[in-house]
Amino acid sequence: MKYLDEYRDPEVARHYVTAIEKITTKPWTIMEICGGQTHAIVRYGIQNMLPGEITLVHGPGCPVCVTPIEKIDKALEIAARPEVIFCSFGDMLRVPGSVTDLLSVRAEGGDVRVIYSPLDAVQVARDNPHKEIVFFAVGFETTAPGNAMAVYQAREMGLKNFSLLVSHVLVPPVMESILSNPDGKVQGFLAAGHVCTVMGMDAYVPIAAKYKVPIVVTGFEPLDILQGLYMCIRQLEAGRRQVENQYSRVVEAHGNRSAQQLISEVFQVIPRQWRGLGEIPQSGWGLAPAYADYDAERHFGLTEILPEESSDCISGEIMQGLKKPVQCPAFGIKCTPDHPIGAPMVSTEGACSAYYRYGNE
Ligand code: SF4
Repeated sequence: MKYLDEYRDPEVARHYVTAIEKITTKPWTIMEICGGQTHAIVRYGIQNMLPGEITLVHGPGCPVCVTPIEKIDKALEIAARPEVIFCSFGDMLRVPGSVTDLLSVRAEGGDVRVIYSPLDAVQVARDNPHKEIVFFAVGFETTAPGNAMAVYQAREMGLKNFSLLVSHVLVPPVMESILSNPDGKVQGFLAAGHVCTVMGMDAYVPIAAKYKVPIVVTGFEPLDILQGLYMCIRQLEAGRRQVENQYSRVVEAHGNRSAQQLISEVFQVIPRQWRGLGEIPQSGWGLAPAYADYDAERHFGLTEILPEESSDCISGEIMQGLKKPVQCPAFGIKCTPDHPIGAPMVSTEGACSAYYRYGNE
């Protein structure tokens, strides 16, 4: 199939593996940011193709995995209200809060609906004027334009029964957090191509310079990842520490200006809690004051709750590149996709789910 097979060609993959073998002289630890990249790496056995000197660790770029447990608990509280229709992408439904999940709330009678676009939630609000419609707006920079458009349209239409439960997070601040950890091992990054499609690459230039790490904006197919790794290792071996673009067929240096304009109209940068990682300054988006009426937490008068995370789950260490999923004592024993303890075992982008599904390490 065009646009897929050409990025999965085994001959070209062998070419990149040979090229990586030729240039690698030292041990290097490289983190892919995005959970989609993690799944491609584990599914296609990319780690196993590489020279033994190269270690791949898996970053925090799975939106479901980093949505804090207190936000899940707020979602559960809102979704259980009889006047509410709670709309969410499907993969949030099984993410455990401190006691239950959205799927269980639905089983107990809550009106929890899976939608495929935030604009579908706006339509649900138009179709149900006597109900309160809440959309669970989670994710990175990639999903922000769609979520911003939904609330922008709701305001344009004068909808009063629509709000967002927002848990947006940003990639550059979490990269800085990982690089600031004195126990950190990451020496180079594969940045997430789709995030840069929206935001461009400018924010990564000061990070590469300050922390002396190569950052290669990379796509999601096996050949994208092998080429991104080759570019990253080539920089490491040559002593260069720059931002490069492997995903140039999609990413432009300055990103999508229209999307950025819409985001800055609707959202403002705020501190954000990350599941497993704690609070990171200026690492998220919340609704801007002009859109405060569309803030579900404010609308429903929710107060701050600080639930306990399971002490069995080491997802924070995994997402900082300090450990791999198979080093979690609960992996595949107490924690499985059918009975997840932590979010990385639930999500289709979670590292633990990738290791469990493809199990090739
Ligand atoms: S295997 Fe389960 S408990 Fe362990 S880190 Fe992954 S999600 Fe958490």
